[in-house]
Amino acid sequence: MRARACTKCKTYAVIHANNPVSLNRIKAFEKVHSGHSLVTVDYFEIKDEYKRFNENEAPSVEKPVVS
Ligand SMILES: [Zn+2]
Repeated sequence: MRARACTKCKTYAVIHANNPVSLNRIKAFEKVHSGHSLVTVDYFEIKDEYKRFNENEAPSVEKPVVS
């Protein structure tokens, strides 16, 4: 199993080949982390300090929370 990882943000997204939902998540991941240091690694290389990417949480990272 492989994963896309951003070494700048310490975030990763697991790549499930042939899974459209997974591929959309990878696209969203690459969009959020465009211009960062993206690498493709084996899943077991992902270290504990890395957080799993959740595309549903991504907008709240980019925009300030409305109070
Ligand atoms: Zn990043």
